Amino acid sequence: MTNATQDIEDLIDLMARLPGLGPRSARRAVLHLIQKRGRLMQPLAQSMQMVADNARECVRCGNIGTGDLCDICADDRRANGEICVVEDVSDLWAMERAGVFKGRYHVLGGTLSALDGIGPEDLRIPALVTRVGDEQIREVILALGATVDGQTTAHYIADELSGRCTVSSLAQGVPVGGELDYLDDGTITAALTARKSL
Ligand SMILES: [Zn+2]
Repeated sequence: MTNATQDIEDLIDLMARLPGLGPRSARRAVLHLIQKRGRLMQPLAQSMQMVADNARECVRCGNIGTGDLCDICADDRRANGEICVVEDVSDLWAMERAGVFKGRYHVLGGTLSALDGIGPEDLRIPALVTRVGDEQIREVILALGATVDGQTTAHYIADELSGRCTVSSLAQGVPVGGELDYLDDGTITAALTARKSL
């Protein structure tokens, strides 16, 4: 085996670790990239390097961006008194894709879990409580999963924020928690419109 071939095999092995890609898809993707070296592979490599150097968590909400504050937190028009709480950045991006929510977000980074020993201080719950006061928040909208842990987390947050602001939850029956991404935009919009107070 030549060095060039080993380099290509290494690339395939790395690509195969991506979500949704197995060894066969990775091999097909790498071949496609090599065949479109100038138009696709080189710009992709430059773009990956740029993001690898600069991507970081927003210090306020936990979204991924390339500065201390993400674009949403840096945009004053998003300060409308509403915060949407999600488990994961992928949920935030799905909500943004639907384009219906005009406020800001708060990424917990998971859910409370007695089984896994995850408590409030392991998530961004204390930071959420601080933001509600600092940013004059009127309503916190919980977009958490319908799992036991998701609902336990929702009730914990509702208790913590009791008397500070309105707390609501996306309409039930929506499988959120890393799964918002699989919903079409219309379903997300309907779930937000039909949200219920906790
Ligand atoms: Zn942010």
